[in-house]
Amino acid sequence: MKYITGIKKSLLHLLFPHVCEGCGSDALSSESCLCVRCIHDLPATGFEKHAFNPIEKMLAGRIPFEKATAQFYFTKEGLMQNLMHRFKYRGNSTLGKQLGVLMGIQLSRSNRFDDIEALIPLPLFENKERQRGFNQSNVLCMGIAEVLNLPIIEDAVIRPVHTDTQTKKAG
Ligand SMILES: [Zn+2]
Repeated sequence: MKYITGIKKSLLHLLFPHVCEGCGSDALSSESCLCVRCIHDLPATGFEKHAFNPIEKMLAGRIPFEKATAQFYFTKEGLMQNLMHRFKYRGNSTLGKQLGVLMGIQLSRSNRFDDIEALIPLPLFENKERQRGFNQSNVLCMGIAEVLNLPIIEDAVIRPVHTDTQTKKAG
């Protein structure tokens, strides 16, 4: 029986190999979507550690805020673009949650965000969420929440209903 289970496992690995979402290597732990090298190569901004970082400068005077950050650089054809594609469009929410966990670790290490009381994911337009099957900012929040041990408030922000009929009427 053990022998058969072994064969079944090998066959499953052959048919559905567990490989890194970033580079395709199969040298990764079973609970991770990324190999150690890809995690190391993620283009982290380090903005969360500093006041007056580029995001805070960009938002200053435009909206009221306490602290702001963006945690990864997005470069075309880069690792991050590949991962975002797999997360957003191919629906790999396990990968999204892992990226959220990595964000949570960065935020926690910075100590600048220790006074956060809750996480509020921004909603997608309803039809977009239906199309995609999930809201990616919600998935990221689940990863962040796991590290920072914070509640997620999903209904604090409402996106106004976006209707095609209005566009048609205007035209
Ligand atoms: Zn990799």
